Amino acid sequence: MALIVQKYGGTSVGNPERIKNVAKRVARFRAQGHQVVVVVSAMSGETNKLIALAKEISANPDPRELDQVCATGEQVTIGLLSMALKEIGVPARSYTGGQVKVLTDNTFTKARILSIDESNMRRDLDAGMVVVVAGFQGVDADGNVTTLGRGGSDTSGVALAAALKADECQIYTDVDGVYTTDPRVVPEARKLDTVTFEEMLEMASLGSKVLQIRSVEFAGKYKVKLRVLSSFQDEGEGTLITVEEDKNMEQPIISGIAFNRDEAKLTMLGVPDKPGIAYQILGAIAEANIDVDMIIQNVGHDGTTDFSFTVNHGDFARAQGILEKVKAELGARQVTGDNKICKVSAVGVGMRSHPGVASKMFKALADEGINIQMISTSEIKISVVLDEKYLELAVRVLHRTFGLDQSV
Ligand code: ADP
Ligand code: ASP
Ligand code: MG
Repeated sequence: MALIVQKYGGTSVGNPERIKNVAKRVARFRAQGHQVVVVVSAMSGETNKLIALAKEISANPDPRELDQVCATGEQVTIGLLSMALKEIGVPARSYTGGQVKVLTDNTFTKARILSIDESNMRRDLDAGMVVVVAGFQGVDADGNVTTLGRGGSDTSGVALAAALKADECQIYTDVDGVYTTDPRVVPEARKLDTVTFEEMLEMASLGSKVLQIRSVEFAGKYKVKLRVLSSFQDEGEGTLITVEEDKNMEQPIISGIAFNRDEAKLTMLGVPDKPGIAYQILGAIAEANIDVDMIIQNVGHDGTTDFSFTVNHGDFARAQGILEKVKAELGARQVTGDNKICKVSAVGVGMRSHPGVASKMFKALADEGINIQMISTSEIKISVVLDEKYLELAVRVLHRTFGLDQSV
């Protein structure tokens, strides 16, 4: 007998029929003698609808109230799934994050989990019940409802698995595992049987939304056995996220291509080239709680230099406003911005032992006439910023160049 946490995403619970199918799958695991805790997302599209609704009332919704609204999506699915389970003779009980209790900090809309009280769940499991928990939400020390950021149900699933010391955390979604790139963009993408935590962390942080990055961090930290599977197929082992590289296998140099359409670029031109510039520019941005991703400072000429960085789309206008102020203080020449960019990244632990990956990547892009605007690298990834219009072409070309296509 094992204790399994199963998380079902929005598409997997997108209508009553699908919720009934999830109930059947859960019932099958229980019939095999396993204890099951199920974490569910809101039905597909619901969270978007709730956010849009809030924005119709307020252009800049109060974060506490926005969480109050957004958390309702998951509350609907836990009730419906528990009903569906009872309909087929499986005793079940639903819990909101607060009822569990999933304690978080009070950073509304992107709260972090601090602790999880497992006692209610343990009691129900011991009584033979299936426990159904709302993903994406928790409660802070003052009892306020919080949410964990978009895609946060993955993190709920992994955190519950860690708290319960579950044997496995299964993430059921609309694809049958982690692919070499988003199969919606490159139909030739291949499913990976295993991927290392390190690679999955990079892929998630570079834009592959199949797993929320925090869920991967959590699983790595608490050694949760994590698997991504399809909720629409009965067969298949999905993708296992592993700690160790498979030493027996010939490691591919690149495991996957990730991309992100969600960034914008800002540049300050003609900044006086003296100590403290980066701090003055980025300090002001950080004070406004804006995350910065890539940063480039050029070699100075004639006492001035150019300074570029990227932020999330959503922070673009605000960051531009801040830079205009800093420009005046610094006596810089001009602030320019571009929110029609994308970031494409090649990820692979094999890169460590293979030089030449970057040049191969740059040549492939050059051969297609794609201009690279920014570059950043780490031990296991190379990212480039490109004009947004090249995104799909670049992803396809790099996927092929690194031998990731199915036919290769
Ligand atoms: P859920 O609602 O189940 O949480 P998501 O939409 O959040 O599902 O994540 C699954 C989606 O992630 C897939 O439908 C796929 O389009 C996308 N995706 C992006 N990159 C990858 C990848 N490398 N492998 C698999 N899926 C990916
Ligand atoms: N429903 C939330 C969202 O759409 C959480 C999740 O699906 O993981 O972001
Ligand atoms: Mg998701």
